[in-house]
Parts: sequence; structure tokens; C-alpha cells
Amino acid sequence: MAYENYEPVIGLEVHVQLQTDAKIFSPDATAFGASPNTQVDPISLGHPGTLPVLNKQVVEHALRLGLATRCSIAARSVFARKHYFYPDLPKGYQISQYDTPICYDGYVDIVPEDDEDGKSPLGTESRRVGLTRIHMEEDAGKSMHDPDGSTRLDFNRCGVPLLELVTEPDLRSPREAYLFLERLRQLVRYLDISDGNMEEGSLRCDANVSVRPRGREAFGTRTELKNMNSMRHVEQALDYEITRQIAAEERGESITQQTLLWDPDSGTARPMRSKEEAHDYRYLPDPDLVEVTVEDEMIERVREGLPELPRARRQRFVEETGLPPYDAGVLTEERAVADYFEETLRHLYKRTKGGDTDAQAKMVSNFIMTEVMRVLNERDHDVDDLPVGPERLAQLVFLRIQDKVSSNGAQEVFEAMMEQPDKSAGRIADERDLIQVSDRSAIEPLVDTVVDENPDKVKTYLGGKDGLLGFFIGQVMQRFDGSPNPELVRSLLREKLDARREEVNVDE
Ligand code: ADP
Ligand code: MG
Repeated sequence: MAYENYEPVIGLEVHVQLQTDAKIFSPDATAFGASPNTQVDPISLGHPGTLPVLNKQVVEHALRLGLATRCSIAARSVFARKHYFYPDLPKGYQISQYDTPICYDGYVDIVPEDDEDGKSPLGTESRRVGLTRIHMEEDAGKSMHDPDGSTRLDFNRCGVPLLELVTEPDLRSPREAYLFLERLRQLVRYLDISDGNMEEGSLRCDANVSVRPRGREAFGTRTELKNMNSMRHVEQALDYEITRQIAAEERGESITQQTLLWDPDSGTARPMRSKEEAHDYRYLPDPDLVEVTVEDEMIERVREGLPELPRARRQRFVEETGLPPYDAGVLTEERAVADYFEETLRHLYKRTKGGDTDAQAKMVSNFIMTEVMRVLNERDHDVDDLPVGPERLAQLVFLRIQDKVSSNGAQEVFEAMMEQPDKSAGRIADERDLIQVSDRSAIEPLVDTVVDENPDKVKTYLGGKDGLLGFFIGQVMQRFDGSPNPELVRSLLREKLDARREEVNVDE
């Protein structure tokens, strides 16, 4: 979407819900979907006499994200109380970090779309989005508003650990905001710190947006958009609000700084009541918690534990296996799929013991990008739970490389392997009579017979009706006892038919 004379300016505030065994300041569990108020203890409810103790795993997760986004790490940071009244906040304050976030001054690179889907070469110029800060905080509970007007409260989420990440106003279009979120989601999943699921609230995003005439340096007045629960909504809400701001500018009206709630049903955003917005949080350092200190040793330990990140991995796949960047991009989208690919290759190479390993990698890649991904989408499987693990996929690809099954046969074997997790690819292919005969001497006699039995058709074929080749192939395939390799049947037929050219007198 181009906005002609105006340039949008966007900054995001994103909450990442962390996957940890316990809450940020208490030992109770954090599982998603537990029945209401079953994961609460006196600490997360803020009962008098309880004391919070920081969960070290949260610090490690913060450092993982901070280091992966090239942030500086604060050697000392402080937790503060952010005061406000709301029924889902039983303590009357949220424990957060205020003037000393644990991570600051980092960045995330996003790549223009044509490169993002890998169609253009690697190394296309990327856009750098500055990260102002990443800080740790606790989540609040959840209010459930019933149709009859009553409200019920679920405190399970109280004290669930969050990272809040604030970007610089570096994004320039709704699409860029979308790409940023997509990249962030991929990153937190690679880092194994969050499932990054925006629909379930593990990623929550508020978007600040203003517009300015192109060429002007000063930012315009911004508004803040809330209540988008998918990346698509963020993009739509921003587009709506940018269009609204531009129209107001054009009419000579000034923009009011305010918070707007996105309504996905009507596709519009309405202002929050100003009372809901009145902010005076009276931040105070939390006297119950000691300073967070991060030693260099800890930073180094976390850094060493970081996985290879998606772009580096994609680059390596291209360099090591000669895969097209597009394939490498698809395979590294999810860390688990990239692992699956590499594991399959490892098993396959043990079988092939050399040869054209690039071609072998491409074959595995094709299989994953078609059969495996189709099954993952259709059945909503995780690749880790797929009944066809890397070793069995390697068996199947190996059958294909040796030409023991046809490409259709391989698909059928794959389907059957999904249902029969204990059987090898070879066994299934055998049982279903899908092992194809690639032995020339076994097929040749039948090819001769079929050609001999159809002198008229041979004549017509040689007279220029190439389509008849299909008829001959069909005859051989049907009458063969077993599954002949169709490619071999085709080339044998061509050879035999051409050999008749001299014998047959072709009428013009
Ligand atoms: P606050 O003090 O209200 O939290 P910040 O200065 O921290 O405001 O900015 C909050 C978010 O708004 C950041 O993501 C920042 O990048 C973004 N932002 C700030 N100014 C603008 C602007 N003029 N237009 C768009 N986004 C902005
Ligand atoms: Mg701020």
C-alpha cells in the first residue's frame, strides 16, 4: 500500500509470553489452558506476608533474546512496581522494569519480501529495526466478560513471565510491521523461549503510528493501536489508521494523541475512553526484590548456548548443499523442520556413501516441501511427532534415488508409512508391490511383444502421431507382472519403435 505524499512512521511494543516451568516470582505452574484459578499461589495473588523471588530462567530467556538481537546487557537492573487498579491485578501493581531494562539498544533485521520468500539472491539489502529495550515483567490475570453483564476473573496468568520489547520508530509501512512480527515470532521459537502464538496471546502487539509529509524529518503526532490478535490484524489496523490520519491531515485537522482499540469485525478502530487511558503509574523500585545482576560469565554461558539463528542457517544450507535460497528459506522457517531436514540428510548420506550429495539434498528438500509439509498442514502435526521420522524418510528417499520406486510410488509409500510407524519404507513398498523393476532384460521382451502385436499403431506412430507412445506405455505397464520403471519403459519403447523405422514403409 503506497500512501503517496505521506510516509508512515511506526514503532511497536510487543509482549512475549515466556515458556518457563514456573512463574516469574513464584513456583506455581504456567501451562496454557488449565482450568481457571488452578495455577495460583499466595505469591502471585500478592497476599500479605509473601515475598517474590526472581526465577532465574526468566533472566536467561531475556538474555537469549537480548543477545540474539544484539542488545547491550545491563550489568544491574531493577524491578519497579507499576501501580494501577484493575480487578485482574490483585496486588494493585504490576512488577515490571522501568528505567533500567535488562537489555537495550539492539536491532532486528527484516528483509524485503521478495527476499524473505527467497526468490531473490541472498544478501539482498535488509532494513534494520532498532530495539530500544527489552525488559522483564509479570503478566496480569484475565477478565472474562459474560453476556449477562457479569465478569469472572481467572488469576492463572498472574505472574506469568513476559518480556516486553519496544522498537524505535523505524518501521515505515504496515507490511514492515508484519514482517518484523513474523521475524520476531520465528526468533523466539528458534530460541525456544516462547511459542510465539499471537492468536493464543503468547505474542501481543501494540502499535504506535504517525504520518509525516514525505521529505519532512520531524515526526507527526502518534496514536496507539491496541487489541490486534494476529499479525494480519496489526497490518490491517495500521493501514486503517494511516489512511485516517492522512485524510485528517489533508483536511487540515490536527491528530490527537490517543489510544485506539481495533475492532476486527467492523475493520475500524475506536478511541478508548480517556478514563481507561489516564496514566499515572507512580513507578517505585520494588523493595521486595533485590537488584538483578548479570555477570559476564552468565552472558558468555547464554551466548554459547544460543542456537544457530534462522538467516545464518539458511545461508549455510545454501553453501553446504547447493540448495536454492528459496528451498533453504522454507526449510529454515521453523527450527524443528530444519533439524528434520538435516537429520534426514545425515541418515541418507550414510546409505548413499557419496555420489551427488547436492542432488540428494535437493531430493530430500523436495520431499519435505511437498509431502511432509502437506501432511503437517493437513493434520496439524508437529514435525517432531510425525510418524515418518528422519531415518524412515531417508529410507524412502534412498529407494527413490536407487529408482526402486517411482515418484508416484514414493508418495503412496509415504502415505502408508504415516499409518504404519513400525515398518520400513522398503518393506511397505514391497508389500504394496511398488518396488519397480528397473532391470532392462526383464522388461524388454514385453516391449517387443507389444510392438509386434500392433503393427498398424506402429505405423501411425512413426508417421508422426507421437501421442500414441502413451498407448504403448499403457499396454506394457498393464501387462507387466509387477511395477516396471515407467521411465525405462518409455525409453525402451522409443528405442524399439525407432528401430522399426527402416522396416516399416511409412505412407506420407
Ligand atoms: P511512551 O513514553 O508513551 O511509552 P515511547 O517514546 O516510549 O512512548 O514510545 C513508545 C513507542 O512509540 C515506541 O515503539 C516508539 O518507537 C513509538 N513512537 C514514538 N514516537 C512515535 C511517533 N511519532 N510515531 C510513531 N511511533 C512513535
Ligand atoms: Mg515507553
